[in-house]
Formats: sequence, structure tokens, C-alpha cells
Amino acid sequence: MRGILNLLGEDTTSREDTIAATTKYLEIMETLKSRQIESCISVKPTQLGLMIDPSLFRDNLNKIQSKAKSLGTFVWVDIEGSPFTAQIVDSYIELRKRYDNVGVAIQAYLKRSEDDVNRILDVGGAIRLCKGAYNESPEIVYKRKDQINGNFSKLMRIMFERGRGFAVATHDEKLIEEAARLSSVHHADFEFEMLMGIRDKKKLELVERGYRVSEYIPFGKSWWAYSMRRIREHKSNIFLLARSLISG
Ligand SMILES: Cc1cc2nc3c(=O)[nH]c(=O)nc-3n(C[C@H](O)[C@H](O)[C@H](O)COP(=O)(O)OP(=O)(O)OC[C@H]3O[C@@H](n4cnc5c(N)ncnc54)[C@H](O)[C@@H]3O)c2cc1C
Repeated sequence: MRGILNLLGEDTTSREDTIAATTKYLEIMETLKSRQIESCISVKPTQLGLMIDPSLFRDNLNKIQSKAKSLGTFVWVDIEGSPFTAQIVDSYIELRKRYDNVGVAIQAYLKRSEDDVNRILDVGGAIRLCKGAYNESPEIVYKRKDQINGNFSKLMRIMFERGRGFAVATHDEKLIEEAARLSSVHHADFEFEMLMGIRDKKKLELVERGYRVSEYIPFGKSWWAYSMRRIREHKSNIFLLARSLISG
């Protein structure tokens, strides 16, 4: 199993903080390399300045990307709330033309995602498909579970048919097993991704069955927004938060 490190923090409004986060990511990548840890990083665009100035975000991401390229590390770009979707997807498509070691998350609850998936696959991009974690309006997202899962299945099939180096990021048993069935037909290059502390037995079972699994590991002091999203999804995640706070 590999790790995906995420320095907690989002909606950053100070330039200095975006530069500090960028510097931290450069250090993390150096450390991963020097300790020969097979892991990558996942960055949040608003932590790198997207709320302040899109060019600041692009500069910071470029710094991270070029360091990652020189170290042979992969970078995932998280997808955030809908005010940022278009900018994140467009920036990713531009970045993918220069770097092949970068992927972007896409949310199955968003009605626009099928177009985004196809545009990203057209440039050979890598997608991490997740359900979506933000509170959005019914005009732009599917709200019912069956609709979200249905769209997840649809986008996942497109990825298995056309994509490579993609990720199926869910803890949902049915969708995981559907991906396993699709992989036996398409033999695509993909991995499962799950959050730290959730469905740990399933992760090991998938590894034993021969699948690649990565665990998304958020760390750092700005844990509030991330933790609230997790608790809203699954009340029992409050125990995860308590465990993290106690163990540091
Ligand atoms: C690696 C990774 C990266 C992500 N990146 C992003 C991103 O960039 N942007 C974004 O908007 N969202 C992101 N997410 C979050 C994602 O969008 C969902 O909000 C989150 O994963 C919950 O959805 P789910 O697929 O687990 O389905 P859910 O419908 O929430 O859960 C499905 C089933 O999974 C099981 N399950 C879920 N949680 C638990 C638990 N705590 N304990 C036990 N069983 C559980 C239950 O059986 C549940 O019925 C990411 C998720 C992952 C795994």
C-alpha cells in the first residue's frame, strides 16, 4: 500500500500562507525521496492561492510540479467546491500538456463531470474519481444516493474504457467490486484510493487480491474543515477525529 500525503489547509487568504504550504510540499517530496518511501502528494488549489489570484495558484503548483518531476513523484490535485471546478479542470488540462506526473480529482455528484472526464481523457490525463464532499445546490449536483452512485458507475466505465493511471476513490463496497469486475475485462492501469482510518480491512483484502491501493493521509494543524466534511458523511468518523487528536 502506498500513501498520498495531504497537508491540511484550504480557502487560504494570505499569499505568505500559500507560499509556506508550497515550501512544505517541496520539503515533503524531498523527505519521501530521501527515505525511499513510495508515496505521493495531493494538493488543494485554494491552499495554493486559487481564492486569491489564479496566477498565484498556477505559480505555486508549477513549483511543486517541477520539483515532483525532478524527483519522480506524482502529484494529485484535489477538487474543491463548485466555484472552483472550472478553474481547477482548465488549469489541470494546461498543466497536463507539460507534465505527465499529475492527476486531478473529479466528483461524481457534479452534473458537469462527464464532460470534464472526457476532456481530461482527451489530453491523456489521470483522474481520481470520488463522489464529492461539498454542500452544493441541486441545480448542479445529483443529490440522491442512487443518482450519485449511478453517475459514479457511468464515469468509472468511461475511465476503464479510455483512461490509464486513474484512481477509484471510494469506500463503497458495491462500487469497489464493480471496479474489480471492470478491471478483469479492461486490464487498465488503475488503483483504489481510500481515506486513512476508513475500511482498513478492505484495503488489505484488495492488496491481497493483487490490486494497488493508496491511502490518503491528511496531516497538519488546519484539520477543522476536513474533519467536518468527514463527520457529515459518516457520524462514526467522529471517533477517527478523536483518535487523531489524542495520538497527535
Ligand atoms: C482518496 C480520496 C480522495 C478524495 N478526494 C476528494 C476531492 O479531491 N474532492 C472531494 O470533493 N472529495 C474527495 N474525496 C471525498 C469523497 O468525495 C467522498 O466525500 C468520501 O469518499 C465519501 O464517499 P464514499 O465514496 O466513501 O461513499 P459514501 O456513500 O459516503 O459511503 C459508502 C459506503 O462506504 C462505507 N463507509 C464510508 N465511510 C465509512 C466509515 N467511516 N467507516 C466505515 N464504512 C464507511 C459505508 O459502507 C458506506 O455505506 C476523496 C475521497 C477519497 C477516498
